[in-house]
Amino acid sequence: MTPGDLDELRALVAEGCRVLSARDLAPGILGHISFRVDDSRMLIRCRGPRERGLAHTTADDIRLVGFTGEPGAAGELDGGYTVPYELPLHSRILLRRPDVTSVVHAHPRNVVVADLAGLSIMPIVGAYDIPGAVLAHGGVPVFPRSALIHNPDLGDDVADSLGDRPVVLMRGHGLTSTGTSVQEAVLRAISVDVIASLSVSIVSTGGTLKPIGAEDLADLPNLGAGLNVGAAWRHEVARLD
Ligand SMILES: [Zn+2]
Repeated sequence: MTPGDLDELRALVAEGCRVLSARDLAPGILGHISFRVDDSRMLIRCRGPRERGLAHTTADDIRLVGFTGEPGAAGELDGGYTVPYELPLHSRILLRRPDVTSVVHAHPRNVVVADLAGLSIMPIVGAYDIPGAVLAHGGVPVFPRSALIHNPDLGDDVADSLGDRPVVLMRGHGLTSTGTSVQEAVLRAISVDVIASLSVSIVSTGGTLKPIGAEDLADLPNLGAGLNVGAAWRHEVARLD
């Protein structure tokens, strides 16, 4: 990977952080995105001396670090930058899931509320958000502890809960989403947040949650991951302005 490639990826990870914030998934200064660079290093959103929150993330905040938090190249943690406390959440999932390239961790309010209210993420909508319906149909597991994931054992516990699914909820904490790209991992997090938000609204107005019918689910078209992710991402970036 050339320095130019790395710089492009830093810009993309930073953009992902701004999208999370714009969608209210990462209010304030909490939340991070990582991107696997090789077998032992990742780009990850770090915190610098002038931290202003995810909404203001720039490529400069995205640093190359080893899976145990050491600088991934000379100077990468210079300038007063520190890795997230929850780095093991990223490194253990990247180690355990070779199919995953990017990990998103955020604290979406709707997701926390829905889970604490006893609501699970179900395919309650279909054509409203097709990738979200398919994701929910496959199941969104819950990591049942509210701990800060600050060591490898806790990282492994979250990876155990995640299993082979794309997204895991974290009780009293938020969610962790994965993908083969930053775009896919962020869009999956947004889909789960949308379903959680709808679920809370439905129950609050006296309704009950039920999955859409099997026939409707089976009839949803496969939009093709590339096409859908590309257009959806352009929209997310456009609405940042
Ligand atoms: Zn967290």
